Amino acid sequence: MLSQRISSIFKKITYAALRAERNPEEIKLIAVSKSQPIDKIIEAADLGLRIFGESKVQEAKDKIDKLKNFNIEWHMIGHLQTNKVKNAVKFFEVIHSLDSEKLAVSINKEAEKINKIQRVLIQIKLSHEESKYGIGEDEVEKLIEKCKNLNNIKIEGLMTIPPYFDDPNAVRPYFSKLRQIRDFLAKKYPFIKELSMGMSHDFEVAIEEGATMVRIGTALFGQGIK
Ligand SMILES: *Cc1c(COP(=O)(O)O)cnc(C)c1O
Repeated sequence: MLSQRISSIFKKITYAALRAERNPEEIKLIAVSKSQPIDKIIEAADLGLRIFGESKVQEAKDKIDKLKNFNIEWHMIGHLQTNKVKNAVKFFEVIHSLDSEKLAVSINKEAEKINKIQRVLIQIKLSHEESKYGIGEDEVEKLIEKCKNLNNIKIEGLMTIPPYFDDPNAVRPYFSKLRQIRDFLAKKYPFIKELSMGMSHDFEVAIEEGATMVRIGTALFGQGIK
């Protein structure tokens, strides 16, 4: 049952935080509802979940339209194409996938049109095996500097999608690497705080390594319909 899965995940989040001597309250659960039907989202929202993650703008738009009356904060966690930016800015509270100057300029432009300050995370690619998207570690500062002149974009942290390993401990070096990059950048750019990392099978390790947002789909909802 969904309610049991939710409480089990919160328990795991709490214990992982305590193992790392962290305050469990600083970790946000993002319920990844991509490929899940509306009913499931309503059920989860009724059970108290508030932040939902989607990875395709069109699919999200349809859901967000139908769920207007729910107090839901929507996060865009998938790769964002420039031609989808307008709707992404309209519908999402946070975009986790900023990975180029071009995208930053486009997000800023659309946000300016509707008088919004768009909250974003920079997606970093830490290895070749990883998802194709994300910017390299050595390009991050340049992107942050570029965004200084973009008044309708607010960078709040970093996100990564590490390669998949059956053993969640094998992912640990990627999570700790992202934290090190965050700690380094935060000295110069104190607004870089959030670490969006960890999915169903490795979120506990991600939390031990400093995650502030975990993106969990399958462990909450089971497999989606494709
Ligand atoms: C699908 C997805 C998730 C959730 O993955 P699960 O393994 O189902 O928890 C998290 N982050 C991103 C970027 C995703 O696309």
